[in-house]
Amino acid sequence: MPTPFPWPEPPPPSCPVLKLLQGQTAIVTGASSGIGRAIAIALGHAGANVVVNFFGQPDKALEVAEEVRRCGSRAMAVAADVSDPRQVRILFERTVDEFGRLDILVNNAGIQLDAAVEDLTFEQWQRVMDVNLTGPFLCCQEAVRLFNKQGIDPARSCAAGKIICISSVHEVIPWAGHVNYAASKGGLMLLMKSLAQEVAPRRIRVNSIAPGAIRTPINTAAWSTREAYDALLTLIPQKRIGEAEEIGRAAVWLASDQSDYVHGITLFVDGGMTLYPGFETGG
Ligand code: NAD
Repeated sequence: MPTPFPWPEPPPPSCPVLKLLQGQTAIVTGASSGIGRAIAIALGHAGANVVVNFFGQPDKALEVAEEVRRCGSRAMAVAADVSDPRQVRILFERTVDEFGRLDILVNNAGIQLDAAVEDLTFEQWQRVMDVNLTGPFLCCQEAVRLFNKQGIDPARSCAAGKIICISSVHEVIPWAGHVNYAASKGGLMLLMKSLAQEVAPRRIRVNSIAPGAIRTPINTAAWSTREAYDALLTLIPQKRIGEAEEIGRAAVWLASDQSDYVHGITLFVDGGMTLYPGFETGG
């Protein structure tokens, strides 16, 4: 059966948006584009105040904040490089100054700097580690300190705080030509799980979402031509690319009390990419 191109229509939301996060405040890092943008808007639809963190795209970040306000929630765009401890501290301070507290952190900011291992520069290795792994560590540290200080407010949530890391299927699938990216996401998996174990008794929930192939600027080369898109589909049992809004919906659920007993897991949202698609015809 021929596959549609550029891609099939995204599935429509199947139920009215519930205000599952009413009165809560969220920081979403790297929220001026792609998955972070969709998560910020989905959290806003669910009733959360949203801090739209961005790095170098102020106009786009302001647009996202405006879109969150159109959902009836409050929003603020704040510039910060997540790999810089001083800028991260200021990001959290500005959040508390504006909204009084923090309930949800989404570690979304991430980059790819790809090269064959023999050509990969030290700077490419280090920058990917700094943004994809050190960034989430710094943000988690600030969030946990705040959650400890705030404690639980039952009027908002039965948890003292929620952390969601946007990982990747490449936290488990090796990826030739991308050793820095795959290593950063594998590291993020054990950062998430170790932290989840450490802070669980304080009712701080920590989980990850691992997207498969989602149509965003980070992977334009994989979906913008017929040939590339067909090659991509060989890796996806559902035979379609994912949309950023699908990650947004998963983030709302993981941030809400609906998932309160879900702790220290990675939720794969990948159309089956982690199901060894090479075996789909029997191997
Ligand atoms: P994207 O390029 O649109 O988003 C990445 C965002 O991070 C951008 O807004 C960018 O400005 C921001 N950013 C980069 N460096 C930063 C820094 N130092 N500080 C703060 N923000 C910074 O791509 P995306 O696909 O939306 O990626 C979002 C996350 O999803 C990334 O962590 C990525 O690894 C992950 N992911 C994406 C896919 C996919 O198929 N698109 C698949 C798996 C995982």
